[in-house]
Amino acid sequence: MNIPKKIKIGWKEYKIEFKKTKRKLIEVANLRYGEIDYDKRIITLNDESDKENQKATLIHEMIHGISDMYKLNFEENTVEMLGDAVYTLIKDNPELFKK
Ligand SMILES: [Zn+2]
Repeated sequence: MNIPKKIKIGWKEYKIEFKKTKRKLIEVANLRYGEIDYDKRIITLNDESDKENQKATLIHEMIHGISDMYKLNFEENTVEMLGDAVYTLIKDNPELFKK
């Protein structure tokens, strides 16, 4: 799995940026490694995280994006579970996405 410069979710195109996410230190119990801004269409990944973490975070933020795009109103807990499930599925089945 690669992290591209931008991704499309429905008709929205999100730019992917790397920086320290401001809320990392505040939410200690629920460590935050990324953010998604639905209006500016930017997904921010923490540049201090390792690659594996950034990929998992990207999937997590994409699930938020899908929830927003299709008005699914997923709770954070659902996004966490789905994000983990989808990321693991992608990671464990690399043949699935090869051309
Ligand atoms: Zn989240």
